Amino acid sequence: MALFDKLTDIFNSTSKELGKKAQNVISTVKLENEITGEENKIHDAFLQIGEQYFEAFKDDPDSPYAKIIAGINEAKAKIDDLRNQINDLKGLVKCPVCGEAVNADTAFCPKCGAKMPEKQVEEKVEEAAEEVKEAAEEVVEEVKEAAEEVKEAVEDAAEEIKE
Ligand SMILES: [Zn+2]
Repeated sequence: MALFDKLTDIFNSTSKELGKKAQNVISTVKLENEITGEENKIHDAFLQIGEQYFEAFKDDPDSPYAKIIAGINEAKAKIDDLRNQINDLKGLVKCPVCGEAVNADTAFCPKCGAKMPEKQVEEKVEEAAEEVKEAAEEVVEEVKEAAEEVKEAVEDAAEEIKE
């Protein structure tokens, strides 16, 4: 066999070998992707079991997972609190019906249409309370002055009687 033919042979068999190896790599990646897909299915199923268990037993203190459930409830409460802090910073209030964060000045929830609690009412109540307090303080002052006047009048009268 001529040298050229030999080289051609080597080249052909080598590229065949390389082609097979490349095919194997591609097949392996495909199979690994399939495994990941199946593993994700298992992961999602476990998640669903956990969520369904939580919904069914979240108020059961005798559940063998009561501690984990308490942890979830604590985390949920903390998330609620943190969301409220964010809402405060953004000037948002929660819709009392659907829980949507709504601009504080909005009269009706844009999501569910519920009437939003009037912020103005709260402010008016506070203003009225302040006015009542001031009026009460004035009355106290007037009563004190009147008492002082009565006292003086009584003293004057007593003085006149003596004279
Ligand atoms: Zn709403």
